[in-house]
Amino acid sequence: MSTEVLKTGSPDAGCLDPVSPGQIRRALEEADPVTLALVLTQFTCDPELLGRAQPFINGPMNYQASIPDSLQSEIRDRLCDILIQHFETAGELPPVPDGPLLQQMLSTAAGEPVAEDYVAMMREDLNAEQADPGRLRWRKQPDPKTLEGFHTLIIGAGMSGLCAAIRLREAGLPFTIIEKNDGIGGSWYENIYPGCGVDTPNHFYSYSFALNHEWSHFFARRDELWNYFEDVADKFDIRQQIRFGEEVVACRFDDARKIWAVEVRGVDGAIETLEVNAVISAVGLLNRPKIPEFEGLSDFEGPVMHTAQWDPEFDWTGKKVVLIGTGASAQQAAPTIAGATEHLTIVQRSAHWVVPNPNYDAEVQEGLKWVLKNVPFYARWYRFQLFWAFADGLHAALQVDPDWEDPDHSVNMINARHRRFMEEYAKSKLGEHSPLLAKVIPDYPPYGKRILIDNKWFEMLNRDNVSLETSGVARIHPHAVELEDGTVIEADAIVAATGFRTTEVLFPMTITGRGGVDIHELWGKDDAQAYLGTMIPRFPNFYTLVGPNTGLAHGGNVIFVTECQMRLVLDCYREQIERGDSTVEVRQDIHDAYNAEVEELHSRMVWTHKGMTSWYRNDRGRVFALLPYRLVDYWKMTTTFDPEAFIFEA
Ligand code: NAP
Repeated sequence: MSTEVLKTGSPDAGCLDPVSPGQIRRALEEADPVTLALVLTQFTCDPELLGRAQPFINGPMNYQASIPDSLQSEIRDRLCDILIQHFETAGELPPVPDGPLLQQMLSTAAGEPVAEDYVAMMREDLNAEQADPGRLRWRKQPDPKTLEGFHTLIIGAGMSGLCAAIRLREAGLPFTIIEKNDGIGGSWYENIYPGCGVDTPNHFYSYSFALNHEWSHFFARRDELWNYFEDVADKFDIRQQIRFGEEVVACRFDDARKIWAVEVRGVDGAIETLEVNAVISAVGLLNRPKIPEFEGLSDFEGPVMHTAQWDPEFDWTGKKVVLIGTGASAQQAAPTIAGATEHLTIVQRSAHWVVPNPNYDAEVQEGLKWVLKNVPFYARWYRFQLFWAFADGLHAALQVDPDWEDPDHSVNMINARHRRFMEEYAKSKLGEHSPLLAKVIPDYPPYGKRILIDNKWFEMLNRDNVSLETSGVARIHPHAVELEDGTVIEADAIVAATGFRTTEVLFPMTITGRGGVDIHELWGKDDAQAYLGTMIPRFPNFYTLVGPNTGLAHGGNVIFVTECQMRLVLDCYREQIERGDSTVEVRQDIHDAYNAEVEELHSRMVWTHKGMTSWYRNDRGRVFALLPYRLVDYWKMTTTFDPEAFIFEA
């Protein structure tokens, strides 16, 4: 091995990091041996090493592999030599493996057999540095006047609004973003409660076209995430197209002129009407906080705060705080503030399943950052491992087995295994005989509500200054919260970690389509439906990102879903603009058949289990919020465009 300084740089990062061979070898020590084995296999096109590693891999994450040290060293040594040669000769990137080898590599990455369905998706991802698959590629480049004449209004500059803007910019299409906040980032702008962060690992929870190899942690906290979205907006030069502090109040389709008239409330409160060809709603599902109307709440004399409307001036030190709710926001906020409070009382209506993750608080080591940035395809393979661990690899655990022996507590054998694991975990943290166990272990099956990653929740419950109440809130007094069982809890402050107005999709905007049809009348108060979560009959050129049935409650990555949605949107734009048509809308029968299938699939999934309530279901029990498909299915459905499914009008 030579000792000279090498120039390295991954195709996506476009960087040049001078580094010595010894530094490469040391950096590889901090990388996942399974991911390295996949990269090595891609360079050698030889599956022999995979065959030897496979028996030691029990899942998609490094902590699920027990590859012997000697084999790990062999993987790292061989890859190190290959990389040195690759960097020294500025060699060509290895090709994407053929189908059977790629499938074997996918199965190794997942630690279990992976179906052939994933090969095409992964092939596309491995090629993404050379050819970003999410871009619109015109078959017949429209003239600049045509492009300039097709203007889109995007509602919201959060994760999905930025994605839409970037894709339109790349296609040469003009757009304006209306953003109600004063900054970019949507949920990540608004949510500043203590401990706020992501519970999907960032190397997956990031745009496929803007990978970040510098995440400080595997699960970043809010500021770092927010900075990421800020940086992406700047990198793609989106900021100038955003009108901050303004709010869309109504979108009305003009049948005669085939345009959308969008009423926008400006910073000064005045309403302005903008006329555009298309509207992309990117408002998300979790943007209107919900504080229950507890009796006496307005008489409470201390601060009352929703987690999504946190007052940065609020100091909880030495205070008696009552926190209502035990969902994802509570899971992060409560353990973060507990230590400094005089007393923290958590009011739990339902228990939530909590799972540990060894990487939850871990920092990303510098060597691993280097590998992510410089070793070809490492970041893409690692991303697939996370995709499997946090999304499609869990899909089987969500399916109801009609013959399952314990249908009240779990839905199938895998689900029961996960239940046992999480029960054992709770016991290991709280103590085998802790009276808290009866309160914190849910009686419904795992994944029935969004799974929560343990943020020292159980450790917090064991604290002397924390109590967990399971009776409902009866009423609020000026200095106390009274529960239905008669307990009165003194309170200096109330934190409502009580979720969002999710059932009222697109609330409070007025949206009217063809013939003046009102979307809220069409959907009723809580029955939102859309084709692929994105398109609604009689609402031409109107798209809903993160729309109905696109949420993920078992893990997942809403950025992946959004990018898929934008593939569909861009295919519609391309077809429509190349045809010279004014509008496109989904056919009613296609929309209805899709939604019937969604409902049918959900009837056999954990989220329609009778053992729990959730914000995913409406009054009649229909799951309107969540995607029932595997992500690979959704990817296929949104990337296989069939013009016959749509109505185009000149
Ligand atoms: P949530 O999941 O809807 O949880 C709300 C909590 O408040 C639940 O425990 C709920 O009890 C309780 N609650 C609601 N009304 C109540 C009432 N009247 N009395 C007593 N308790 C009441 O809301 P969230 O925690 O803000 O999370 C919402 C979503 O945001 C999550 O599912 C996730 O998608 C996202 N999120 C993600 C992260 C992250 O990535 N780390 C962090 C925060 C939020 P029930 O369960 O009985 O309804």
